[in-house]
Amino acid sequence: MKSQKTKKTIKTIKIDVDKCNGCRACEMICSAFHAEPKYSSNNPARSRIRIIREPLRDLYIPVYAGEYAVAECAGRDKYTIDGKEYDECSFCRASCPSRDEFKEPDSGLPLKCDMCEGEQEPLCVKWCMHDALLLEEREEEVDEPEPEDEQEELEIGLEALADKYGLEKVKDAMARISKKD
Ligand code: SF4
Ligand code: SF4
Repeated sequence: MKSQKTKKTIKTIKIDVDKCNGCRACEMICSAFHAEPKYSSNNPARSRIRIIREPLRDLYIPVYAGEYAVAECAGRDKYTIDGKEYDECSFCRASCPSRDEFKEPDSGLPLKCDMCEGEQEPLCVKWCMHDALLLEEREEEVDEPEPEDEQEELEIGLEALADKYGLEKVKDAMARISKKD
């Protein structure tokens, strides 16, 4: 397959758990920035960063939302921190069908961190007065398929679907999807 190399900036938020004091300023600003209209309200349930809180143990762990997972994962990790065992999904970044975290409370639509698109610096990083959140950026070379390759891939995918389910069923599904738009 033909492809061309392009440079991509990968942004991540480095979390220093020891510096977080659970003030939740990051949740506030994230939910306010993503409110409609912007800054019209704040509701931590709408935030794309959440603080796992254990005040009695002085433990606060920021987790920011990653990709949407269409299904629950099979392999999960258990964590024991400071003598407390945490639920397998506690620190997962995915918006997933099996739990309520990182879902828009009214619509149930998945929430994902967009690095505060349009802002110079992610707002949670900017508003964290304790330097618990730090933006890290790195350049990576990634393969970008050329347009004709994408077209080819699309046709191969559709052919495979038509082989498996029959052309009429694929056409029906496409018609239903386009009606939803
Ligand atoms: S703003 Fe910083 S210190 Fe406060 S809860 Fe968020 S990560 Fe922790
Ligand atoms: S970078 Fe922006 S969108 Fe992502 S968690 Fe922080 S405030 Fe929310």
